[in-house]
Amino acid sequence: MNIKQKLEERLGSTIGQADDKAIYYSLLGLTKELTKEKKENPGTKKVYYISAEFLIGKLLSNNLINLGVYDEVKELLEQEGKLLSQIEEVEPEPSLGNGGLGRLAACFMDSMSTLGLCAAGIGLNYHYGLFRQVLENRKQKEVKNPWIEQENWLVDTGIHFTVPFRDFQLRSTLYDIDVPGYESGVNRLHLFDVDTLDESLVEEGISFDKTAVAKNLTLFLYPDDSDKAGHLLRIYQQYFMVSNGAQLILKEMDEKGYDVRQMHEHVVIQINDTHPSMVIPEMIRLLEERGLSFEEAADVVSRTCAYTNHTILAEALEKWPSSYLEEVVPHLMPVIRKLDEKAKKAHPDEAVAIIDGDGRVHMAHMDIHYGFSVNGVAALHTDILKESELKAFYDIYPEKFNNKTNGITFRRWLMHCNPSLAEYLTELIGSGWKKDAQELEKLLSYEAEEAVRNRLLEIKADNKKKLKNYLKETQNVEICENSVFDIQIKRLHEYKRQQMNALYIIHKYLEIKAGNLPKTPVTMIFGAKAAPAYTLAKDIIHLILCLRDLIEADETVRPYLRVVMVENYNVTKAEYLIPACDISEQISLASKEASGTGNMKFMLNGAVTLGTMDGANVEICDLVGENNIYIFGAKSQEVIRLYETGSYCAKDLYESREGIKKLVDFIVGEELLALGDPESLNRLYQDLIHKDWFMALLDIECYIATKERMLSDYEDREKWSRMMLKNTAKAGFFSSDRTIAEYNRDIWKL
Ligand SMILES: *Cc1c(COP(=O)(O)O)cnc(C)c1O
Repeated sequence: MNIKQKLEERLGSTIGQADDKAIYYSLLGLTKELTKEKKENPGTKKVYYISAEFLIGKLLSNNLINLGVYDEVKELLEQEGKLLSQIEEVEPEPSLGNGGLGRLAACFMDSMSTLGLCAAGIGLNYHYGLFRQVLENRKQKEVKNPWIEQENWLVDTGIHFTVPFRDFQLRSTLYDIDVPGYESGVNRLHLFDVDTLDESLVEEGISFDKTAVAKNLTLFLYPDDSDKAGHLLRIYQQYFMVSNGAQLILKEMDEKGYDVRQMHEHVVIQINDTHPSMVIPEMIRLLEERGLSFEEAADVVSRTCAYTNHTILAEALEKWPSSYLEEVVPHLMPVIRKLDEKAKKAHPDEAVAIIDGDGRVHMAHMDIHYGFSVNGVAALHTDILKESELKAFYDIYPEKFNNKTNGITFRRWLMHCNPSLAEYLTELIGSGWKKDAQELEKLLSYEAEEAVRNRLLEIKADNKKKLKNYLKETQNVEICENSVFDIQIKRLHEYKRQQMNALYIIHKYLEIKAGNLPKTPVTMIFGAKAAPAYTLAKDIIHLILCLRDLIEADETVRPYLRVVMVENYNVTKAEYLIPACDISEQISLASKEASGTGNMKFMLNGAVTLGTMDGANVEICDLVGENNIYIFGAKSQEVIRLYETGSYCAKDLYESREGIKKLVDFIVGEELLALGDPESLNRLYQDLIHKDWFMALLDIECYIATKERMLSDYEDREKWSRMMLKNTAKAGFFSSDRTIAEYNRDIWKL
């Protein structure tokens, strides 16, 4: 049977007679069937990528692409008057991640399958995800985000484990999502769920009884941890994830007849950030149960586990009070204490202790002492880890440290989200780039060809129109497709400095009011979720939404400047926004963004970066050259010195620079107070003057100047199109296929 026959059999009608919903569910079933026919990637050594998040996005189109039937299905539907892009709208986006870290895990799953590596992902099956963001009264509201429908991508494996806690135990069920590689074999994403979950526990918004662990464990990703019950729940979740993971790994080793004493020859456990760190003591505990001595078990586990660090923000490196661990997983504490004593004996320095003087357990420290590899996620980030943040560890274990600059899968972030660019590239340079992304450099030989550059501009214009239509349909906002699209989409955090971008909007507003009109109108687009308990982040959202409405109501400014906040930013929205972008905002305070991956997606799709020398921006700059990127602001060394000496003073800048004062004062000026919540605007104003921990005022002047220069260069379409071409051509390095090949070459050695 061919695909059409199979599809119509599932539908029980012709394609033409079926509605989009019916077609989607039939395609879902068909795709699962086609995936089942693919072989699993084989190997005698397997990597398990453990992560609290997998921000996988919708799966239908990507799976069809990777299975090699996308074009066939698309054409077949078109013959019957149906659009695949329309049918995709039916699919809910799985809500299993938060931001860059989770999206990275998803890109890695795609690349591990594509490269034919024997690999699996291990995580949790959150029923209501992070949260769905609703913008109401110029504020963020959080509601649950259910995504698991009757028919879905999950496959019930029938595999169960028992996970012990202090006073009770929970039974798990393992659900799998198949991950077909691009023209390659299949791996699995293993998502554990608790059998006793009770969805009805969720009351208003996203609140629920945090103490009812058996009923709530897999309801939400990152439940509120502003109180003790929330902290404990995070520990319950983490232990549930790693205990299930460890039991699964041992089960698979048993089935293959491997000796657990040889675990390191058959298994690598890649610990994605510190959330899965308890896998180390848990695996040791399980091996002790199987008769290994503590020393034997600790030794083999240390040769099996590898740790990826994702942040240098001190507050994000998890430290659990040992009393909390004692309350949740008392059976793990003896192991952790032994690991701590052993480490202290060899390295008495308090800075590298696992359990510190206050009895807190430093998860990252455990990973570094008892893992064989520690990697950062961009060249600058790894340097900072070695030279400052983790220097005490680097002095002890220089051989463990290595860099793996992040990457993105080009299947999703070019072939799927920007098919017209993908097709045009193939027309110019052949399709080799789909398997070897470095081949995109062949595009460089077309730089002088005006027709090629014009086509790139045309594709960008089409994508801008597509975004305009999408925003009209989904949010009922109307933007001008001929304006410059300046886009900042990422989690809302002070270090990412959306507040600095908001100050730019104030600058531009005042300029336009003063009669300095931009040649081409500017559309400032934001998309960002704030953590529910992160007050200042929510204040920044409020400021942006107040500015939006101030400008919307102003007949003199509105034709030249618009502000749009895309509601509930997620992978699906990113897929519309990124191909349509002109200016990619990557403006974190230097040294704070470990890598960034949004920056890579934009570059690949022909946007030009406006950024600081931070994270992977540094590598983007090296690749495209200073003339094809707009760099501004303090460098990381300077910033690190300011923190060390405590010599940054926002107030001094505010008082001495009239231009800065004018922008900051506007936040609590009468125009915005007439629209917004005075408490929220005031809090943000006070913070900027008295604290400004991420130094927005330090860089604001050069940020404004650089963006103005960029807007003026935008008018020179030849120059701009050359920059676009250069950026796409040089993006090959950021394929996650390259990243994963490096992980395998240096760490996993599969
Ligand atoms: C890529 C991506 C991110 C990460 O963006 P950064 O700019 O690197 O922080 C976050 N969320 C989604 C939905 C993404 O696709």
